[in-house]
Parts: sequence; C-alpha cells; structure tokens
Amino acid sequence: MPAPYNPAMPNRSPSPEQPPLDSETSGAPDNLAFEQLPLTPAALANLRQLGYLNMTPIQAASLPLTLAGHDLIAQAKTGSGKTAAFALPLLANLNPRSFAVQAMVLCPTRELADQVTQEIRRLARAEDNIKILSLVGGTTMRPQMASLEHGAHIVVGTPGRIMDHLQRGSLNLEALNTLVFDEADRMLDMGFFDDMVFVAKQCPNKRQTMLFSATFPDSIAQLSRQFLRQPREVKLLERHESDKIRQRFYEVANEERLGAVARLLNHFRPVSTLAFCNTRQQCRDLLKVLRDQGFHALALHGELEQRERDQVLIQFANRSCSVLVATDVAARGLDIAQLEAVINVDVTPDPEVYIHRIGRTGRADQDGWALSLASPNQMRRVANIVKELGTEVEWHPIDELPATSNEPLLPPMTTLQILGGRKDKIRPGDVLGALTGEAGFNAAQIGKINVGEFHTYVAVARDIAREAQRRLMAGKLKGKTVKVRILDIPGDNQEDKESRANASIRRRPPP
Ligand code: ADP
Ligand code: MG
Repeated sequence: MPAPYNPAMPNRSPSPEQPPLDSETSGAPDNLAFEQLPLTPAALANLRQLGYLNMTPIQAASLPLTLAGHDLIAQAKTGSGKTAAFALPLLANLNPRSFAVQAMVLCPTRELADQVTQEIRRLARAEDNIKILSLVGGTTMRPQMASLEHGAHIVVGTPGRIMDHLQRGSLNLEALNTLVFDEADRMLDMGFFDDMVFVAKQCPNKRQTMLFSATFPDSIAQLSRQFLRQPREVKLLERHESDKIRQRFYEVANEERLGAVARLLNHFRPVSTLAFCNTRQQCRDLLKVLRDQGFHALALHGELEQRERDQVLIQFANRSCSVLVATDVAARGLDIAQLEAVINVDVTPDPEVYIHRIGRTGRADQDGWALSLASPNQMRRVANIVKELGTEVEWHPIDELPATSNEPLLPPMTTLQILGGRKDKIRPGDVLGALTGEAGFNAAQIGKINVGEFHTYVAVARDIAREAQRRLMAGKLKGKTVKVRILDIPGDNQEDKESRANASIRRRPPP
C-alpha cells in the first residue's frame, strides 16, 4: 500500500500572531536547496531527476510558508516556477489512498491548464497512481464526466468548465483541501470573476488557498479578502530585464510594413518569432506575405477550432514553425519558453500591451529581440511607450538591414503527427524509444513530444522527417501499427480551411 505523499502533513492551523512576510521580498533566501523543505525522500529524488537542482526565488520565498499550511498570495512573473510553488504543497496535502478530489487548480485558458497538468504530473511521479484530470472547455463534457466517475485526486481546469461540472453534480468537492488560483488576474481579464466566486464558494471552508497573479488590481484584493485566510504575501518585484531584451524601432511607410517583417526575419534569422498584429485582417495579410516568400509561418486566430489551435501551438513551441502571427487577444495564455524575437508589426496604442508583448522574449538565460515597426503617423504612440519604459528607444533604418544569409529561413524541426495518443496508452517514452531504438535515429534528432488524447506530436530534425515517418509506420507503437503524417507548412489543413472558407464566400449564385 503506498504511503501518503508526504508524511509531514502541514500544520493546518496557521498561528495568527505570526506576522505576515514582508511583502517586498526582493531577493531570494540564501539557501535554495529543496532538501531543507519538509518533503519526502521520494519527492526530493524526483525533483533531482527533473533537473530541479535549486528552488527558484518564488519557490524559495513561498514553499516554507505553504508547506506549513499557510494561505498564500503571490506575485511573480511568467517563467518563474510558480507551478511547482503550488504543486508541491498541493501534493503534500494529498492522500493518494483516498480517491476523492482533494485539490483544484483554476487556470485562465486551456493551454495553461494543460501545461499545469503536465507539470503536476511530472512532480507527482514520486508517488504511484496520482490521478490528475484536466477539465477545460473546447471538448465535450461526457468523457470528463466519465473520468470523474473513475475518481481523481487533482483537477485542473478553467473556471467556466469547472462550474459546469459543479452545476451538473459531476464534480464533488467535499474532500477538497487545496484550492489554487493560477494567473488570477488573467482569469479576471477573461471575465471569469463570477465563475471563480461560484466555484470557490463550493469548496469546504477548511482548506488551504493559494493565489498567484502577475498584477494586483482591486478585484484581486477583493477575491483574496473573500477566499483567503490570513494569507502570507510574497511579491517578487519584476526586475527589469530590459537589458536582456534588445529593443529596436524602425520607421516604415504603411505600405512597406509587411515586407519589412520579412526583411527583419532575413536579417536577424530568429528560430522562433512571435509577430503581433493589431487586427485579424493584418494577421491574414502578413501570413500571406510571409508564406509567399517561403517562410514557415502560422497564424493564431479566433476562427481556429481547438484541435487546429493546439496543432499551431505545438508546431511553434517545438520549433517546426518559424513565425507565429497573432493578435494580442489570440496570443493570450500563450507561454513559449524559447522565443528569440518578438516583432511588433504595428504599434499598439496601449504602452502596457507593448511591455507585455516584448516580455515574451528574453526569458530565462537568453537574450531576445523586440523589433517594432512604426509609421510616421504613429509617433505619438511610440512617445507613450517611451514614457512607460522610462528610457529612450533605439531607432535604426530599415533599408540598411542586409539579409545575413542567402538561405531561406527554415525551422530546424518538423512535426510528425501520430494517430494515437493517451487513449492508446502511448507515452512520450514509447515514441522516443521507437525512433531511437528500432528506427535507429539518435536522440539529438528528436525534439519535443506531445501526447494528446487521440494524437501524438513529435518534432524531428527537418531533414529526417520523411524517413522518420516511414520508419514509424513500418514499426509498432505499444504493439500496434500507427499512421503517421507530416504536419507540413504551408498547405496544411489550416490553409485548406481558409481557402475553403474564402471559396464559400465567393461562391455566389450567378446573377
Ligand atoms: P510560471 O508558472 O511561473 O510561468 P512554470 O511553473 O511554468 O512558470 O515554470 C517555468 C519552467 O521552469 C518550467 O519549464 C519548469 O519545469 C521549470 N522549473 C520550475 N521550477 C524549477 C526549478 N526549481 N529548477 C529548474 N527548473 C524549474
Ligand atoms: Mg504558470
């Protein structure tokens, strides 16, 4: 019989006389070793296996408090390791022998919920048989209801979908002991306030609540007053990493704008670029210009079906698409770790949006380019951005940008889609094993592997794509023959669908 995840159950009644942590914690505690935390040897070994050698600053500041059972309100930027900061206490509160939902994480988008689910799965590996269920919109309720009937320890989901389950009675929260609001401000942005309140009210009073948010508008304070008990506060002030983000502005005439994007790409040759447009029409126009010039570009827009959106994101994140073209709304919730460049195809009227856009690059230990195209009539917008930044920006002439190579800019990887996924018990290791074992490729030629419900996506070096496809189809996965197709760009289903859509618009009855 498995032991509880963490025998050192946290003290569930924090003492009120303990003063809250100074809310301006700017540095991390000296000792960043996970070993000092009350975690099981198995959990510590798993962290080492994941390559988590030290705590990140947000983890170091919050885990001692949350593992002691305190409620927490925390502010830290994207990529700072917040998931483990709430996942470790959540797992510590868990009794794996009880097949009841004991922890719930609310996230703003399906993508973030999926990422959180995956990260919790990795962190839960220290213990056998912890069931984590993702409850998000965009898929039918029925399979989720069936999974819930089989019992789950942890649910991760969007407030709307969780509320649906609560209203239908398919989700029971009586045994819940941990509630997490992840990216709370974004959930509010997306209009989830009422749903969040509804869901939180269904949770037992005796529980630990953690709230993570990048900003603290009044509505967050309101939520926290209503649903957190004597929360400890941890704020890691965003150290301005503008030194890692190299910003450049280029003046262009409106009609040169889209061509200038290609020029920037040919000059800087970033592996992954996120290109922000102000409108959907601009997205479509830019996509066409880039594809006509041979770039592997995809667009993220509202008309995509969930599966198509997933495919676009997977191809971009696994480096088999060079440019992702998106509006701010479509890019919401997108979290790509390795992004060499952000291009502001157009100047946004909102300086905060500019800061948010460029913050997508220059993550972790990497530098990033933030390249902006501005037409002469947009100088007032630029002036507002400069004011917000508090520093002058560099201007460079666009015509002096030579292409730095004659080779077309192509992504290093190509995505193979395997028709088979979690439903067929396929795991990333099976795919990696098939490619490096029987098929004879070396691990360096294989990139990210995403296993979905019905499909699996694996990135392979572009030059071995056809051969990898052939050998995967010739071999077996989990004892079965599988179909494999190459997600090629362009000309893939996304474009087909667009041209179909356009055709149907044009197909008017003759006069
Ligand atoms: P956030 O939610 O703050 O944006 P994530 O929790 O998604 O950040 O973590 C960002 C990345 O850092 C993930 O790839 C995660 O696996 C990794 N990570 C988290 N904690 C650690 C750690 N202590 N050491 C190394 N990598 C970590
Ligand atoms: Mg996160």
